[in-house]
Amino acid sequence: MKIRKLFKFEGAHIVRNCSSEHCKYNIHGHSYQVEVFLSSNKLDKGYMVVDFILLDKIKEFIVGFDHSYSLWDKEEKEFKDFIYKYNKRVAEIPVSPSAEGYALMFFYATEKILENTRFKNGEGEIKLSAVRVHETATGYAEVSEEDRHMMDFTLDDIRFSPGIQEEWKDLGWWQNLKDDKPFENPEVELNLPY
Ligand SMILES: [Zn+2]
Repeated sequence: MKIRKLFKFEGAHIVRNCSSEHCKYNIHGHSYQVEVFLSSNKLDKGYMVVDFILLDKIKEFIVGFDHSYSLWDKEEKEFKDFIYKYNKRVAEIPVSPSAEGYALMFFYATEKILENTRFKNGEGEIKLSAVRVHETATGYAEVSEEDRHMMDFTLDDIRFSPGIQEEWKDLGWWQNLKDDKPFENPEVELNLPY
């Protein structure tokens, strides 16, 4: 069975090397919509693939890009210094911040988060089937397992500025993920409302 969860963020970027003059030479923004598709061979004790509440780290990751500048790590030093000097929320990333680049990075990070999460409510084998990133209302990029060869980066190549990290609910979660420290979820007590 497949489920889909929608996340949103308002992000700023420049997409260097693209064909559109507007996009490659101007800082501008979009209202992004990110669809995450998960599947499982079995339902948990609540008859769910997974309770959305347990996907909080995926939300934390994607919302890290909200009201942030997505800075491609291949930018020139002078430009990087300017961005860091005048912006608090900066995500420095190993992909150009096109919808395709975001989709590759979100797929990679979401899979790492899922691998690192201990589910304790009888969930089955939860798999990430796809991540879809909509940059506008008319187009999206979708990444699935077959695109793995394009993910030539690691979590260490994604850097969130202190201005982003200080707004996270769990301040240590990102470092824990990079250190492979599992996210534990509580055992769910079976109960009826009477
Ligand atoms: Zn754009």
